[in-house]
Amino acid sequence: MQASGTERVAHDRRPAIIALELTIVLPLVALLTYLIDHNTTEFLDWRILVWAGAIAVVDLLPVAAAGEIKFSLSFPIELSAALLYQPGVAALIAFLGALDRRELRRELPFLKAVYIRGQIAFSVAAESLVFHTVAGDLHAPWWKLGPAVLLASLAGYLLNAFVVATYAHLQTGESTMKILREMHVGVFGEFVISYMGLALFSVLVAISTQTTGLWALVVFVAPLAFARQMFQRTHSLMVATDELAERQKENEHQALHDSLTDLPNRMLFLRTLGEVSDRCRESDGMFGVLIMDLDRFKEVNDTLGHHYGDLLLQEIGPRLSRVLREGDLMARLGGDEFGIVLPDLPDGSMAVRIAQRLLEEMEQPIAVEGLLLDVSASIGIALFPHHSDDVETLLRRADMAMYAAKDAGSGVYELYDPSFDQYSPSRLTLIGQVRPAIENEEFVLHYQPKVHLEDGRLAGVEALVRWEHPERGLVPPDEFIPLVEQTVLLRPLTQYVLNEALRQWCDWKVLGIDVPVAVNLSARNLLDPQLPEQVEEALGRNGAPASALSFELTESFLMADPTRSIGVLGRLADVGVELSIDDFGTGYSSLSYLRRLPIDEIKIDRSFVMRMHVDADDAMIVRATVDLGRNLGFRVVAEGVENAETWDQLCVLGCDVAQGYFLARAMVPADATRWLAARTPERAPGEAPPADAHRANLRAI
Ligand code: C2E
Ligand code: CA
Ligand code: CA
Repeated sequence: MQASGTERVAHDRRPAIIALELTIVLPLVALLTYLIDHNTTEFLDWRILVWAGAIAVVDLLPVAAAGEIKFSLSFPIELSAALLYQPGVAALIAFLGALDRRELRRELPFLKAVYIRGQIAFSVAAESLVFHTVAGDLHAPWWKLGPAVLLASLAGYLLNAFVVATYAHLQTGESTMKILREMHVGVFGEFVISYMGLALFSVLVAISTQTTGLWALVVFVAPLAFARQMFQRTHSLMVATDELAERQKENEHQALHDSLTDLPNRMLFLRTLGEVSDRCRESDGMFGVLIMDLDRFKEVNDTLGHHYGDLLLQEIGPRLSRVLREGDLMARLGGDEFGIVLPDLPDGSMAVRIAQRLLEEMEQPIAVEGLLLDVSASIGIALFPHHSDDVETLLRRADMAMYAAKDAGSGVYELYDPSFDQYSPSRLTLIGQVRPAIENEEFVLHYQPKVHLEDGRLAGVEALVRWEHPERGLVPPDEFIPLVEQTVLLRPLTQYVLNEALRQWCDWKVLGIDVPVAVNLSARNLLDPQLPEQVEEALGRNGAPASALSFELTESFLMADPTRSIGVLGRLADVGVELSIDDFGTGYSSLSYLRRLPIDEIKIDRSFVMRMHVDADDAMIVRATVDLGRNLGFRVVAEGVENAETWDQLCVLGCDVAQGYFLARAMVPADATRWLAARTPERAPGEAPPADAHRANLRAI
């Protein structure tokens, strides 16, 4: 078997390569010229052409290439020639015979073609030289013949392999030894070695040529055909093996990476944590775990749709990788939660610095298909072994720190502190407790009034749900609604709240308090086509008119599945309940778009209202929203009114309704009843309340 250099379409003509080619070609041509000149008779043998022809025929048979190295099967014929003829003639036979198919297709530069023939001729000359030196000639006894042939073929093979590897080394820059090793590993290498067995066959052919003439060459047909068959088989096997290995690598990558972002997944994260902690335990080192959660991701997802959410998540990895050091690992743990392992920390402040830098990166808006999205993040940090030397505990503490950070505001990091242990709600446990809690009536509604700014008349009450948890005490809605929203429990909970609110409305009605109750809906509620019927049914069951009820929904419902949501919204409006857009100003929809929907009211988000008395920008936003909202025919409510200044400002702006701590906090039903009763004037219908009564009352709270 002869290897003939690397298969490349564009041929590399670097000086070093040309030099190597010349190093082979020039001495060979000089040597052959010299020998032909001095031993002319030796070369005047017509059989030389027959041998060369036989080699050419075999070389013309297509044989699959092994990687970049191209092989031919003419090796045993060349070896026979080397056994029969002295080095010079053997070299000439190989030089004339060795034929690279690319030569016929004119794909080889002239010098390279000559070089390929030349290097094979050199190997064959070496074979001949070794054989004749060791054995003398083919009449030698078998115990001389055998080793001589083996040595000869070995010498020829080594020379050929070495030259080919050197050539490849010049082309690729890889070390010659590595290339040689690669030529001989795996199934292909095994095949090359067993193919060398044909060397013994060459002896047979060479000897019988001396007795039966050139017809002995025919003996090669069967083994060569067989070898070629084997070669192709081996080659397919090799390709399949490579593919399998590739597939395995891919599978492993898939198993350890998140398909959306291609970041490491939870599994790889945990594995890395285990490895890093083992290392640190041995070396008394320190490492950090960061848990990062995006702050406004759900909003993006709900408002703009999952497509944007997904694109946004894909941007996070590349953006944050700038901050991370080599060896740090960032994984997507699920949803909008990321985990970061910081190995080899000199001290805790390094982890804090990295967290700060990560948050700074997250502060920059992220461009997604032309939209600039603002999402910040909250990060919890836990340090090994400082906060725990047990990986699981460490992770839990990083998680608690993250919740503490979230609680402290957005874009904040927290280093774990034992006081955070209250944040270990182990959210899953909480979720598991929702269904029984509905049955046990652990959910309660608190009520917060809304009042007309103009005259202090009651405008309504908002029902706000809380969970009277047997162990945790009163759990605010922000801690469980987002969880419930992701489960099938949303419908039963909404159902429960709706019923409870209507029951309360009836109780108040009996007491002479006639005030509509507002119930909050999640965006996901509007994907539930049964909602309108359920509302109608609940109204019927409690004997309440549609005017007793209104719904507050955030703009986020508009984008998740607008067609479906707007359909449900329309049917709700048909039932006759009023609809209000909650948290207005924090979403992405415009007022003019909302105008096309059956909406009655907008509630300016409390984040603007709460600061309008100190922040001119916020005051501007409130003013513009009030103007526009009223012009478009909506009732405008300001929520989060916390002081008299804000109240007065809103009066001046012409806002319709106010809600907030300045009036009253959300109250348990008994307190709410007292509050409402005190503000329900016992007067004839149509009689106006005393001027400024609301202010007097409010001050008294
Ligand atoms: P929201 O609808 O924007 O409710 C107003 C929140 O602002 C309430 O918090 C209320 O206590 C608070 N708030 C009222 N006035 C003021 C004020 O002057 N200053 C300040 N700083 N805050 C004020 P709460 O009760 O914790 O409710 C949080 C959110 O939970 C609600 O936001 C609403 O989105 C959600 N939620 C409450 N009940 C339900 C429910 O039954 N179903 C659904 N889907 N969501 C609910
Ligand atoms: Ca609300
Ligand atoms: Ca609100």
